[in-house]
Amino acid sequence: MKYDEIEARISGGISLSAEEALWLYNECPPVKLFELANRSRFLHNPEKRVSWQIDRNINYSNVCISGCLFCNFHCRVSEKEKAWETSMDEYKIKIDELFALGGDQVLLQGGLHPNFDIAYYENLFKSLKAINPLLKLNALGPPEVWHIARISKLSIRETLQRLRDAGLDSLPGAGAEILNDRVRKLISPAKPGADAWISVMKEAHSMGFGSTATMVYGHIETVEERVEHLIKLRDLQSQKPDNMPGFRAFICWPMQVKGTRLAEIYKIEPLTPVENLKMVAISRLVLDNIRHIQVSWLTIGRELAKVALHCGADDMGSIMIEENVVSSAGASYRSGEEEIKQAIREAGFDPWLRNQDYTPYLRRDLE
Ligand code: SF4
Repeated sequence: MKYDEIEARISGGISLSAEEALWLYNECPPVKLFELANRSRFLHNPEKRVSWQIDRNINYSNVCISGCLFCNFHCRVSEKEKAWETSMDEYKIKIDELFALGGDQVLLQGGLHPNFDIAYYENLFKSLKAINPLLKLNALGPPEVWHIARISKLSIRETLQRLRDAGLDSLPGAGAEILNDRVRKLISPAKPGADAWISVMKEAHSMGFGSTATMVYGHIETVEERVEHLIKLRDLQSQKPDNMPGFRAFICWPMQVKGTRLAEIYKIEPLTPVENLKMVAISRLVLDNIRHIQVSWLTIGRELAKVALHCGADDMGSIMIEENVVSSAGASYRSGEEEIKQAIREAGFDPWLRNQDYTPYLRRDLE
């Protein structure tokens, strides 16, 4: 039976093929898939505990030339009444709030701004670190890095090096959506393609940056393209230098399309809870060289996230102090510190607070 063969491969540490992953998704009874993923979770993370984090999303601007059909957040630079840029006074308030809540990391992102070159980000990063030298910057997804390199006429490596010198600590896996150019051309016509995303991450990993990998599914892609995405990430991770962190975690979430042009053009049915759990489980099983799987409670809700902790996930991500992008397309869940910890306990695990690199986080606000 196919299930027994796959189970034996996983127990023997052999990576799943695309065909096996598709069989698990399409034909394996979900309960058996979840049980297999849960076993794999404990092979990667044997402790009966689930990590969480305190960080804060900040968007530096909403101006973007990418024109993704699923994005209600962005506008053109010419839309003067809509375009905004975060001021230094606003950064200071947000960073002070973050430290008061016990966190020390900002997830800083925007879009592909036509006028912001490397000098803008160097100045921004240095200014933010001057507000609080303990601040950690997890900033700029690969499409942003690729765009900055292009308009600054620099190589990806030079761009990353200058950003690091200015204060960049780690790279989020943003902008991956589905790493397949058929899909990308339809949903994000002006965004760098799959190879660009992969090449930025490959360079970042070779330079020792830690990062995360993401996937946004449930729109116009096929299940085959989701599996192709996972296998591309696994291949990329297998190329990182042995002594470098590479992808520390993987996070996938169903695309939020409320009120977007994508929803106007395509009939997009919301995925069922079981399909969202199957994506967590398949991710855990295919990505056998990425240690942590994070569940996106922001998009699937805390109750389903608790179930996902039994289907392969071992991380609840961050409390949400501020989020503007997926919230503007329908994600409405919110969680504070006590709610995240309670959800983890209710799921039967001990919560542990982590840094971006999955070491235990020591809180200064409680000292
Ligand atoms: S999702 Fe990001 S890259 Fe796409 S339009 Fe919105 S801000 Fe721009």
